[in-house]
Amino acid sequence: MNITKVNTVIIGAGLTGLFLGKLLKDKGQEVLILEKSRGLGGRVATRRIDQLGLDHGAAFLTATDQLVEILIKSKLHYEILTEGILVKGGMNQLAKFIAQGQNILKEQRLEKIEKIKTGWLLESDNALTIECKNLIITAPVPQALELLNQNCLLNQIEPKIETLKYSKALIFLGVMKNASNIENFKFMGHQFLPMNIRDLHPNGLIIQLANEFSEKWFNESDEIILEAILKIFKLSPMGALELDKYELKKWRYSKIETPLEIPFYKVQSNLILCGDSFIDPLASAEAVSLIL
Ligand SMILES: Cc1cc2nc3c(=O)[nH]c(=O)nc-3n(C[C@H](O)[C@H](O)[C@H](O)COP(=O)(O)OP(=O)(O)OC[C@H]3O[C@@H](n4cnc5c(N)ncnc54)[C@H](O)[C@@H]3O)c2cc1C
Repeated sequence: MNITKVNTVIIGAGLTGLFLGKLLKDKGQEVLILEKSRGLGGRVATRRIDQLGLDHGAAFLTATDQLVEILIKSKLHYEILTEGILVKGGMNQLAKFIAQGQNILKEQRLEKIEKIKTGWLLESDNALTIECKNLIITAPVPQALELLNQNCLLNQIEPKIETLKYSKALIFLGVMKNASNIENFKFMGHQFLPMNIRDLHPNGLIIQLANEFSEKWFNESDEIILEAILKIFKLSPMGALELDKYELKKWRYSKIETPLEIPFYKVQSNLILCGDSFIDPLASAEAVSLIL
């Protein structure tokens, strides 16, 4: 068996994992990031349709000092609005910037975790085997707990960790036949986000469906959900515009309802959970980098 050995493995190439990876790398630590998807950024996601982008994950990010500092260094175009930070040309540009020079393996879903004398033995769905001293999981905590549970690593977890809740999100990605001059607006509680004002698909539209709608319809089939969304679209101020194509994205874990007021959680020695379940994704990553 071919085993890769590394000091620290970070699970997830979302903002938390990438920022933490960069902090550790800058300190000279040997780090490997494993990401289950094909792309970087996690919930900071930009999907290509007709080779043009649509921000179908977070459309804004809370403007924290760390985030603004990174954006200034990145020279990316961004705006700070009341809703948060908007990165022009695609929210995932931010992830790509932080990822530069890092050791990241995509399409590697961590599945098995075994405690060994020197730390952890990990196995991915692509049969990659890694031995590491420190293991940091940045997936939303409920997802991380599922993984730990499957590997019988959840002996004495605190109740406040187990009761963390995320809202579900339904996202409509539409491409209209013609461009519109409409700005962001809310209709019946749903957030309409034309992509042209983000320097993305000139005819692209994202609708972030309201929380109550997303919770109610989440488990229905895509066909039924899209039918309900199209009715909303038709009633909206954009309803007269003709749609060329559209699709649906479902986020089971979109935003944390009430983050824990701790920076991270240590499950066992050298096994840490961090990310947006805690104070703030980047603050959580920074706190972990200080203890490793
Ligand atoms: C629709 C939507 C709207 C949002 N709106 C806002 C907003 O307005 N303001 C705001 O501040 N935030 C918003 N957010 C939340 C924001 O996107 C997140 O807080 C932030 O991106 C969290 O980053 P993260 O790195 O902690 O987690 P994630 O981005 O979830 O990264 C975790 C990564 O881990 C990977 N992963 C999980 N399990 C495994 C495994 N077993 N093996 C390998 N990889 C794994 C995932 O693929 C993912 O890439 C929104 C999110 C969504 C989806």
